Amino acid sequence: LSPPVVLVLAGLDPSGGSGILADAEAIRSLGARPVCVATALTVQTTRAVRRWEPVQPALVQESAHALLLEENPRAIKIGMIGDARIAEAIAKLLGPRRDLPIIVDPVLEASSGTLLFKGTLQQARDAYLLLSAHAMITPNLLETTALLNLAKQPQDAAAVEHAARALVAKGARAALVKGGHLAGDPVDVLAMGGAAEHFAGSRIHAHARGTGCRLSSAIAVGLAHGQSIREAVVAARRFVREYLTQATVLHT
Ligand code: PLP
Repeated sequence: LSPPVVLVLAGLDPSGGSGILADAEAIRSLGARPVCVATALTVQTTRAVRRWEPVQPALVQESAHALLLEENPRAIKIGMIGDARIAEAIAKLLGPRRDLPIIVDPVLEASSGTLLFKGTLQQARDAYLLLSAHAMITPNLLETTALLNLAKQPQDAAAVEHAARALVAKGARAALVKGGHLAGDPVDVLAMGGAAEHFAGSRIHAHARGTGCRLSSAIAVGLAHGQSIREAVVAARRFVREYLTQATVLHT
């Protein structure tokens, strides 16, 4: 039995900490085969993003179209999209493919502070919400605050749940809002179909990049293997936890 294919549309971080190299690493290690389209090229080391350029929307669309036709992906993961034109090209391409599970991990800003979307915050919001229609979305609290235009970042599990439900109300099939930026122990909340489930975690003090990329890619692998959204989330959280634990060992 050949491994299922997962199609990734995301940014290239040449240092491999995040972006499509991290996605491909996670996908392969979980028993699926990654095929990747770069939406943006970043100039980046393990320290910081220096600058970046979006890839031509037509090139992104052509590449993804060819892979969709010839590689038969079982799930799609979308990370950094770069600008509104690329988002529109992807939305047009994927519109007729609502049969495939799609996971959108919005990317607005690097931890080093560089903005990773060219355009206004409103355009970024519209672009990621457009792509998350009928898809699963996995924002952290900063991204959630931006996507929902909240006055302040959710501060507790109840506010995280409220935000996850609000993303579903805006059209996402499911929303996993990651509580890693909460004070104290993190809680992730999965909202879908009128219900919400809390996943409590304990904080791991690790110096690790690309955890969001890896989590969303791992969820895509689970769905490609035919798991339910909930099963895929449980397995992906375990996978990232192991990654963080190893990072702790590497950096201490
Ligand atoms: N570069 C790319 C291509 C990314 O996808 C991301 C985040 O997802 C980053 C840079 C930023 O990563 P970090 O927040 O670890 O700096």
